[in-house]
Amino acid sequence: AYMLLNGELIERSEGKIDIEDRGFQFGDGVYEVISVYGGHPFALNEHLDRLFESARKIYMNIPYSKTELEDGIKRLLQKEKKNNCYVYMQFSRGTSIRNHIIPKTATGTLIIYLLDAKQIDEWKQKGIKTVITEDIRWLRCDIKTTSLLGNVLVKQKAVEKNASEAILHRDGVVTEGSSTNVWIVKDRLIRTHPADHFILNGITRREILSICENHQFRCMEQRFTVDELLEADEIFITSTTLEVMPVVEVDGQKISGGKPGPITRKLQSLFEQEIQFRCFD
Ligand code: PLP
Repeated sequence: AYMLLNGELIERSEGKIDIEDRGFQFGDGVYEVISVYGGHPFALNEHLDRLFESARKIYMNIPYSKTELEDGIKRLLQKEKKNNCYVYMQFSRGTSIRNHIIPKTATGTLIIYLLDAKQIDEWKQKGIKTVITEDIRWLRCDIKTTSLLGNVLVKQKAVEKNASEAILHRDGVVTEGSSTNVWIVKDRLIRTHPADHFILNGITRREILSICENHQFRCMEQRFTVDELLEADEIFITSTTLEVMPVVEVDGQKISGGKPGPITRKLQSLFEQEIQFRCFD
């Protein structure tokens, strides 16, 4: 397998990172995961914009243009001849003598490589189990940073209870999942947390919002509580790797009779159509 390290295409096993890379020591970096369908990265432009936006928010300059990053991804996809996979790209603040202070001279470290796609068809059919747990993360969840310890710890809460995702709340208000955005449907009204500092504004989230608008679904970016979550007619989560994923259980309690609900099903299929239209047709 290959990787791009600072713009250079090399064997993945040849990729060397300094032990004083700030990505390694501080989690001082930003990243993106992009789905590739039929050889075409989905919503590549939106992902790259968000990468630059995350970098800006932590006072980091990425010394590459969007076109250079796009070209890098395409080179890698051609080299690996992969049609269905994920692109992982991360840019860290680079190497500097260990010190919390942001270095003026470090130039950053860019890595891009391909991850195998998860098989999610069966999950998409049946839905997944989730648990509710406290959102113990920091207050800048809008930044897609490689500092993911909070996310790792809450995901572990789900794993311990044989669930696939942790749904997080702050003082009883549902924010998002450990690596997904969370949505509820009640009386045909679809709701998800507004895009502020408490959640990552998912690219899939934005796609679903625009699908709702284009297809006249009633949808609001509005906070909801854990109680409202448990009383919802339907729950689903969204992310690049899970697309539109039905939630059929929360803390052992069945949701929508333990089966994916009709609005979730409709959104799943509209999102699949969008992928088909943009990556295959
Ligand atoms: N929220 C968090 C915390 C995430 O890590 C992710 C993605 O992995 C998402 C939401 C979903 O974002 P996207 O749809 O851009 O993958």
